[in-house]
Amino acid sequence: MKFFVSRIFFPMAVIGSFFIFLVVRETGGNLEIAIFLPSIALMLLAVYLERKIPFLAEWNTPQRDLGTDLTSAGVAMFVTEPILKLAGPVIMVALYGLLARQDAFGLFPTALPFVLQVLLAVLIAEFGSYWVHRWHHASPRLWWLHALHHGSRRLYAINNFRVHPVNHALSVFAGILPLMFIGAPADVLMGYLALTSPVVLLQHANLPFRNGLLNYVFSTNEVHRWHHSTVPDEANRNFGRAIVIWDLVFGTFRYSSQANKPQAVGLFDGGTYPADLSYVRQVFSMFRRDPRAPGCCDRCASGCCASA
Ligand SMILES: [Zn+2]
Ligand SMILES: [Zn+2]
Repeated sequence: MKFFVSRIFFPMAVIGSFFIFLVVRETGGNLEIAIFLPSIALMLLAVYLERKIPFLAEWNTPQRDLGTDLTSAGVAMFVTEPILKLAGPVIMVALYGLLARQDAFGLFPTALPFVLQVLLAVLIAEFGSYWVHRWHHASPRLWWLHALHHGSRRLYAINNFRVHPVNHALSVFAGILPLMFIGAPADVLMGYLALTSPVVLLQHANLPFRNGLLNYVFSTNEVHRWHHSTVPDEANRNFGRAIVIWDLVFGTFRYSSQANKPQAVGLFDGGTYPADLSYVRQVFSMFRRDPRAPGCCDRCASGCCASA
């Protein structure tokens, strides 16, 4: 069982998800369901296996974070995602009108074999996601959105969805809009989701994966753990959403096959982000003044830092 979880489970999930998608596409089935149902099954299986074979037993114990994580997951799935699905085409129409670049529509090489189109889409979309994620770490105002994701002191499957809705929207648009803009077909976009969703869903899983060389391709939990380190030099690494190719290209990749976890996970910036407040209060904390500066609370007589 442990061998299956550590060595087989992750590659099987990625290949299986994409294979199901390809079969459903060939048979003319519903592509959204072909992605959604395997994703739900994968999450349930991951949550079950975390209880049986955890990477760290203490990460199975809630630390006043379960309410925040479950609320955030509900908002992400049932509010943010449906809104983004509606907003994407509207933004594209506005962009085309604004830039008068309808000719860009034909740039995506639709004559390539379908699987190659999907792989190209992964590279393009992940480039946008990489830089938007990196920007969230570099900009104080954007960090105040992204800190919600880093606020958890443990990593487990459900806090994969611990993300600010605005952060969520910026990441999705950075990945998908460039593809839409150059005319990537809808089924290629869906193929991109089918191939990368298992990676993203298992990225925080408290499971003892040992994926070897796959860690140099995918943003696995072994790689992504470093991104949640409380040490800044470790946390400002591995920005990739589902793949680490752009981290390797831009010099932000970190992975150790020997010691595959940081000392501790959580906030790394030494600031005053109120990670223990409720989900709703964290979401709206972005409107506080001067949030990242050390000593903010000392200077802020009006109580800008609720955690003080
Ligand atoms: Zn981050
Ligand atoms: Zn994460």
